Amino acid sequence: MTRRLEGKPVADSRNAATRAAIAARGDQRAPSLVSVHRDIDSPFRFYLKRQAKAAAEVGVVFRDEAVGDAAHPEALTARLAALGRDPAVDAVLVEHPLPPPFDFPAAVGELPLPKDVDGVSPGNLGRLVAQRPVQVPAVALAAVAIARHYELPIEGEPVAVVGRSETVGLPLALLLASRAPRMNATVTLVHSRSRDLAGALSRARTVFSCVGRPGLLDRSNVPPGAHVVDVGLSSVPDPTRPGGSRSAGDANPEALEGWADSLTPVPGGVGPVTVAELMASATRAWSWATGRESPP
Ligand code: NAP
Repeated sequence: MTRRLEGKPVADSRNAATRAAIAARGDQRAPSLVSVHRDIDSPFRFYLKRQAKAAAEVGVVFRDEAVGDAAHPEALTARLAALGRDPAVDAVLVEHPLPPPFDFPAAVGELPLPKDVDGVSPGNLGRLVAQRPVQVPAVALAAVAIARHYELPIEGEPVAVVGRSETVGLPLALLLASRAPRMNATVTLVHSRSRDLAGALSRARTVFSCVGRPGLLDRSNVPPGAHVVDVGLSSVPDPTRPGGSRSAGDANPEALEGWADSLTPVPGGVGPVTVAELMASATRAWSWATGRESPP
C-alpha cells in the first residue's frame, strides 16, 4: 500500500510553533501580512481565504489589497514600493504569475528582501543561490517540511525535481541541493525540454513534482518504491462536484497506488503546509523588523 503523506499534521505543527513564537514575545504589535492581488476572480481568491484563516489561527494581522486588473504595471510597482516603506507592514505577498505587461520580478523587487515574504524577488533568489537565504518561497519550504516530517530520503540521496520555474521548481531544487541541515541531496532538475522523463527520474528515491499537469506521473516514469511529493495543483472538470471541478496534482494516485512508497494527496498535501510556511516567514520578517532578531 502507498502511504499518504498528509499535509495537515505538518501544517498544524508549523502553525503551533508560529503561534507560540508570537505569543512568547508578548508584543503590542502583531506580525502584519498584506497580500496584493489583481482585482479579479482568480484562483488566487481561494488562496487568499486560506491565508486569512491561517493568519487568524496563528495571530498574524492579515489584509488583502486589490490593485485592480486594469491597473497599469506602474501602479503595482508604486504600491509595492509604498508597502516596502510602511513600517506597520512586515510582510507582503504578491499574486503570481501575472500576465504581460506586468513584470513580476521587477515589481516584487521593489520590496526590501525581508518583506518579500514569498522569497521570489531576484534579490531573494540570489541569496538562496549564495547559500545566505533571507526569505525562501513558501512552497519550497513546504515541500521540504513534508520531506523532513515524514523522513523521506533526501540527504546524500538522488532526488528529482520536475519543473524549473523561478518561483517553485528552481528554488526547491536549490534548497534541496543546499548545505542546510538534512538537505544535501543529489538533485536532477527536469523540465519540458528534458528528452526522457522516465530516464531522468529512474534513480530518484524522492520525486518532487512542480508542473501543473494532472496525470503526468504514473508507473511509466516514477521508479517503483519512490516517494512522491506532489506540488502540482490544477483544476480539472468533475461534473460530480458542486462547482463542476476538483483539484488535482501532477501524479495519478490510482496508477501509483501500490507502486510508489508514499505520495502526498492533492488537495491536502503541500497546499496547507505552504500557507503555514507563509505565516512562519511573515513572523520571521516581524522579528527582524522589530529588532528581536537580526536578518541573515
Ligand atoms: P509554471 O511556471 O507553469 O512552471 C511549470 C514547470 O513545469 C516549467 O518549468 C516547465 O518547464 C515544466 N514542465 C511543463 N511540462 C512538463 C513536462 N511534460 N515534463 C517536465 N516538466 C514540464 O508553474 P509554477 O508556477 O512553477 O507552478 C507549478 C505547479 O505548482 C502548478 O500546478 C502550481 O499550481 C503549483 N503550485 C502549488 C503550490 C502549493 O502550495 N501546492 C504553490 C505554488 C504553485 P519549462 O521551464 O521548460 O517550461
